[in-house]
Amino acid sequence: MTGPVRETAYAKINLALDVTGRRPDGYHEVRMVMQTIDIRDSLELEADEGTDGIRIQGSGKLPGGQALSLGSDNLIWRAAQRIREQCGIGSGVRIRLEKQIPIAAGMAGGSADAAATLRGMNRLFECGLTDVQLREIGKELGADIPYCISGGTQLAEGIGEKLTLLPEMPELILAVAKPATGVSTRYVYETLDTIAGWKGEAPAGMLIHPDVDAMVRAIRERDRAQIPALLGNVLEAVTVPACPEVGWIKALFASGGARGVLMSGSGPTVFGIFETEEDAERAVSLVRSKELASREESFVTRTVTPGLSRPS
Ligand code: ATP
Repeated sequence: MTGPVRETAYAKINLALDVTGRRPDGYHEVRMVMQTIDIRDSLELEADEGTDGIRIQGSGKLPGGQALSLGSDNLIWRAAQRIREQCGIGSGVRIRLEKQIPIAAGMAGGSADAAATLRGMNRLFECGLTDVQLREIGKELGADIPYCISGGTQLAEGIGEKLTLLPEMPELILAVAKPATGVSTRYVYETLDTIAGWKGEAPAGMLIHPDVDAMVRAIRERDRAQIPALLGNVLEAVTVPACPEVGWIKALFASGGARGVLMSGSGPTVFGIFETEEDAERAVSLVRSKELASREESFVTRTVTPGLSRPS
């Protein structure tokens, strides 16, 4: 047994997010281009020989001052427990979490932590599970977790579990901001069902579907100019009216010279793609000065491919 082991959990954004239908079991069929960005949580895992439990310790203040249970409902706990069951691990484990990724933001923070826990437990207890096996275990805990096992640039289909690895992205400079108020993922998908008429009733509105295939092509062809132009997220139709701050931040980023702006996931986080770090800094300062996002939940960052990232 080795230890302690450290894992980095990176946030993601969606460069394109489409929902193409609702399955009879209530899950939604999606087509999403996922991209890792350099906003990260850190986890340190250590065997706790004297116990048979899982103990999570949070360090520092949580982003946005939000409450996050560190008990058995935390995805980290559930991921650790799954590996203990799968690999017959008797020993307890202590997990130290340093959180930077905003919570309930559309940046897959919980999924990234769960994936980092699966990887970390596998290394700490030398279970010998492959990435394919880790993705299988992750799938049962959450639809975004299989993607988060290796991250990078990927097309996610099905309910998010059918993954196609795309070539490494040209590095993009990003401004990212999460407004204080958001809407629940559940509300977003239920309202989407009504707008689309997926529960049998007549459609109640119009959806704008992004051209996911064109985005995939632009990434494969490393077409830097096309990527910002093809950004699209069908869920904006629900979240923008419910949470006007999303629209305001998009407008501020655009007026600050962003090449493209989009909401990530079901929101409320917004990102803009900028030519220079200075432009991105100015856009983030403007959003903060209007009190649309806090200092802890607004960033200038970059796209990143885990494994090739610069040291922190
Ligand atoms: P996604 O983009 O996958 O929809 P998200 O960024 O919107 O995810 P998360 O930050 O993953 O949302 O949090 C969603 C909920 O999951 C939170 O309300 C929180 O209570 C719960 N949760 C459980 N474990 C964690 C964790 N380790 N970090 C953050 N949230 C967690």
